[in-house]
Amino acid sequence: MRNDSVICLGVGDGWPSADRNHSAYVYRLGNACFVLDAGEPVCRAYKLSGLSFDAPEAIVLSHLHADHFGGLLMLLQGMWVEGRTKPLRLYLPAHALEPVRAVLKEATLYQPLLPYKLHLRPLRAGKPIRIGEVKVTPFESTHLVELEKRRGLKPTRRLVSYLFLIESRGLRIGHSSDLGSPDDLRVLLDKPLDLLICELAHFTPQQVCAVLSGQKIKRVAFVHLARSYWSALPATRKLLARLLPDIPHCVPSDGEVITLG
Ligand SMILES: [Zn+2]
Repeated sequence: MRNDSVICLGVGDGWPSADRNHSAYVYRLGNACFVLDAGEPVCRAYKLSGLSFDAPEAIVLSHLHADHFGGLLMLLQGMWVEGRTKPLRLYLPAHALEPVRAVLKEATLYQPLLPYKLHLRPLRAGKPIRIGEVKVTPFESTHLVELEKRRGLKPTRRLVSYLFLIESRGLRIGHSSDLGSPDDLRVLLDKPLDLLICELAHFTPQQVCAVLSGQKIKRVAFVHLARSYWSALPATRKLLARLLPDIPHCVPSDGEVITLG
């Protein structure tokens, strides 16, 4: 029997919330396990999941906004004090490699102090990474480009944010992370998806569902809802049902497990 699931450790957006953690998900596909994004309090949420701190082979970070990255240090420290010895790969945008390495050093999360080997690896658009038998392909989203444009920023170096196609033994899962345009999702939609984890923080349900409607997607889990949609959840669910009548969808809470297959 297949035992594939996504554990929602944090479905919150980038705003402080009394009832949602920031972005973090555990993917368990076949024998592979990895954490996607590490918003705080990911370490506590991970502990609550009951999984062993040895379980993930990798942590993948879509980008370094605080709501996706802010819990990373504590998660790495948690693995240390919980007795992890298995090597861990940390995948992140290439431009973040050296700054994150420097922060890890300041936080004394480096070899030889760390009892497990931590390998920092760059993500590159369109270049799949392998985690066990799972293939994770990052695609560049326009999230940071659009943000810079909107705020009139002229960064000296280009920052990148990724969305992901996750494939495992015939399963195809899309994970939006943060979008710069609902059209960013199209790269995931050229073949049918079994599941799409889709953010609803930066665009209206109307804008996002306009792209999803009519697509071959078995199920959509809407996460990262903007505070206004989350605080009016019954109305948001009704609106989503009206906008997306043909695609089963849900709005999970923290701790919820989405099973596949
Ligand atoms: Zn975000």
